[in-house]
Amino acid sequence: MKDTSKKRRKKLNRLGKLTLGLIVVFTVILTVFVTEIVADKKVEAEKGTEQAVKSEVKTNKISKEETQPKKNTPDTVEQEKTKDEESSSHKETDGSEEKSNSVEEKQKKQEEQENKETDSSKKQTSAPETGKVVYLTFDDGPHPTASKEILQLLDQYDAKATYFMLEPNMKNNTDVVQEMAEKGHAIGVHGVTHEVSKIYQSPQSFVQEMNQGIDFIHKTTGINTKLVRAPYGSNPYITPPFKEASDKEGFILWDWNIDSVDWKYKNGGFVDTIIQRSNQLVGKEPLIVLMHEKPNTARHLERLLQFYKENGYDMRAIDESMQPIQFK
Ligand SMILES: [Zn+2]
Repeated sequence: MKDTSKKRRKKLNRLGKLTLGLIVVFTVILTVFVTEIVADKKVEAEKGTEQAVKSEVKTNKISKEETQPKKNTPDTVEQEKTKDEESSSHKETDGSEEKSNSVEEKQKKQEEQENKETDSSKKQTSAPETGKVVYLTFDDGPHPTASKEILQLLDQYDAKATYFMLEPNMKNNTDVVQEMAEKGHAIGVHGVTHEVSKIYQSPQSFVQEMNQGIDFIHKTTGINTKLVRAPYGSNPYITPPFKEASDKEGFILWDWNIDSVDWKYKNGGFVDTIIQRSNQLVGKEPLIVLMHEKPNTARHLERLLQFYKENGYDMRAIDESMQPIQFK
C-alpha cells in the first residue's frame, strides 16, 4: 500500500510541477502577448490621433474651401460692380477664371442689350401692336421752305411719307428730292403743268407729262418710280383710254381715302378733318391721306403726327407692291 501511495505522491508531485511549469510558461507568453498588444494599440492610437489631426486639418481645409466660394460670390459681384471704376483684382489664384467669367458675362450682357435694341428698333420700323397703318401723301411739291419743315417733322416722329411731285418744282428743289430719297420716303410723279386743259388733253399728253417727271427723278435719285397721282384724282379725268395708256406704261395710279382739303385752310382745321376721318375708318385701313406741300400744312402737321403716334399708328411710305387705292 505504502509503495503505491509513494508512487501516487510522486506522480502528483510531477503533475503539480508540470502544471506549475505550464502555468508559468502560459503567464509569460500571456504577458508578452498582452504587452505587445498594448504596445500595438498605443501605436495605433497614436496613428489614430495623427490621422484624426490630419483629417481635422483636411476638414478645416475643405470647410475653408467650401466657405471661400460663398465669400467669393459677393466679392465677384462687388468686383464686377467696381471693375469699370478700378481695374485691380484682389484674388490672384482665381483671377484668370474670374476674368474669363466676367468677359463671358459682359458679352452676354452686351448681346442682351443688342437684342433689346434691335427689338426696340423693330418696334419703331414695323407695325405696332395695334396694326394701324397710315400713309401720308403730299402733292404738288417740292416747296422751297415747306418741304424741309415737313421732312424734319417726319424725322422727328419716325414717320415715312409719299410724295407726288411736279417736274418744274422738282427742278427748282433738286436737293429736297434727293433728301426725300435718302430718308426712305416714297417718290412719285404728279405731272408737269397741273392744268386740266393740258395734261388731260389726250392720253398721250398725260403719259408724256408723267414720264417727264419720272425721268427727272431717275436722273436725280437713280430711282425708277412707277408711282403716279393724277391731278384732281382719277375721277373724272382718267377715262378708260387714259387708264389703258397709263397701264401700258406700267404706272401705278394712287388716289386717296382721306382728303384733308388742307389747301382751303389758313389754320390747322384740316388736321381735325383728317383725325375725324381716320377715326371713322378704324379697321378699314390702309388710310391714304392727301395733303399738299404748303406752308400752312407744314405749320400744323405736328399735331397730326402726334395724333397718329399717340394712337398707335405706323406712318409708312407707299410700296410699289401694294394694291393701290383708286376711285371707282
Ligand atoms: Zn395736285
